[in-house]
Amino acid sequence: MKLLLAEDERELSAALCAILRHNNYSVDAVYDGEDALAYAVSGDYDGVILDIMLPRRDGVSVLTELRRRGIDVPVLLLTAKSGVSDRINGLDAGADDYLTKPFDIGELLARIRAMMRRRTPYIPAELKYGNVRLNRDTLELSVEGGGSCRLGNREFQMLEMMMQSPQRVISTEQFMSHIWGYDSDAEIGVVWVYISHLRKKLAALGANVEIKAQRGVGYSLEIKREQK
Ligand code: CA
Repeated sequence: MKLLLAEDERELSAALCAILRHNNYSVDAVYDGEDALAYAVSGDYDGVILDIMLPRRDGVSVLTELRRRGIDVPVLLLTAKSGVSDRINGLDAGADDYLTKPFDIGELLARIRAMMRRRTPYIPAELKYGNVRLNRDTLELSVEGGGSCRLGNREFQMLEMMMQSPQRVISTEQFMSHIWGYDSDAEIGVVWVYISHLRKKLAALGANVEIKAQRGVGYSLEIKREQK
């Protein structure tokens, strides 16, 4: 799951990013309304957390413009305590929910989960391909009749992307932007490092699927051919 966080208070933004990443979300952070709009229209996000009081363009205006352009990504508004009319305008403009500052982190996480559940009719807890199972709640990778192990956050997100659309080639750039974010300092070689970790784990567990490299294009998850 990838979120866009538009919050101009840098310390709050940094703290929220850390907490969201710790809870297995990928996050891009922006600090004003124009950037929020530019990033959100990319269509690359599963949800947007949008502060109303933003420089350059306020959150309600960003939201109104998103909906006008037909972008129906779930949006959670962050509002000031006094901003009753902001909240009403925000909901009228097409927000899914709002949270009043200061808020409890546990409540923010619960609101995000609820917003995602409402928008996505059915997110299975477990992805399956071949004899491989990936549990989205526990990050556990297991093989039918074989072993299991708990994946690290990034490994999990990479395998989740591949298991959501097996046999489809995913480019290194797609992994980078989805998991590390556009503004990441991470080197592109990091994708290969995580792919090689995942390959070792799949092989060690006796998986009948493997990660194929398509030279110069990307990676795909395939059922192994019979060994000759
Ligand atoms: Ca603000």
